[in-house]
Amino acid sequence: MSKASGYPFGFLDEYAKKEVRRSVLKAIALPGYQVPYSSREMPMGRGFGTGGLQLTLSLIGPGETLKVIDQGSDDSVNAVNLRAFVEMTCPDIDTTTRTEEATLIQSRHRIPEKELSEKQVIVLQVPYPDPLTVVEPSEDKRKTMHGEADYSRLLVKLYEDIVKFDEITISHRYPTRINGYYILDPSPIPRFDVPKMHQSKALILFGAGREKKIYAVPPYSEAEPIAFEDVPFRVENFYDQQGNRLSCARCGNQESFLDEFIDSRNGKKVYQCSDIDWCNEQLRLRKEENMKELVREKNS
Ligand SMILES: [Zn+2]
Repeated sequence: MSKASGYPFGFLDEYAKKEVRRSVLKAIALPGYQVPYSSREMPMGRGFGTGGLQLTLSLIGPGETLKVIDQGSDDSVNAVNLRAFVEMTCPDIDTTTRTEEATLIQSRHRIPEKELSEKQVIVLQVPYPDPLTVVEPSEDKRKTMHGEADYSRLLVKLYEDIVKFDEITISHRYPTRINGYYILDPSPIPRFDVPKMHQSKALILFGAGREKKIYAVPPYSEAEPIAFEDVPFRVENFYDQQGNRLSCARCGNQESFLDEFIDSRNGKKVYQCSDIDWCNEQLRLRKEENMKELVREKNS
């Protein structure tokens, strides 16, 4: 029992946490399979990351370090509230904004730019866990389809996209096959982040609180976004009309996923890294490089 908050460590009772952990083990044993669990009521509305939060609270222990992000930002209201809640109910943990310092990362809609390690676990908040919902309303039938790895109707849906729009129009929640069998919904991460699941060193967990499902991509899994031989999977491209890669207006980086803003002074589009920790680090590196350059000039 935490003295400060009056709640048990991790808010949930031990039975609830045990059940979540058992579901996680099952999810790891069956990569991509949606494990049902009895999602608990949390002191916040479903749809605000309660599935991710239940995973975090069940897995975190004293001495661990948590990072919470929302769309790449540690400072958005949702991330701040979730982090504060974990801090309040788990008194002996640390929190951080630095990706490499975290042992556990809870995220909404992004996988960090910096490659994760075997020592890390990332928990993604999931609104809609089943990629087959778009083609089959009955959950019973969807379960059979998953069991038989029968994704023909999903492929037809993607094919219809190509016929209508000349490309696959899914921008987020891109259906991805894990280890050659189950197809999962990777939560609303951009397509840019989907390849990061492939052979990821970190365990990736997905928690859907409202839909009461947990699933996983274990470390070093095959994650293959579904596509066609002649219409391959593509990530968002950040090129201007001249074919140059756009760079972040703040740190100058040209590798990251960029958010688009309109500059209120001139109405022009500006781009900035969506992953704020990554942006800060690139900025630091650039400053160090500039300092070294200055020293070199001075000494020559
Ligand atoms: Zn940046």
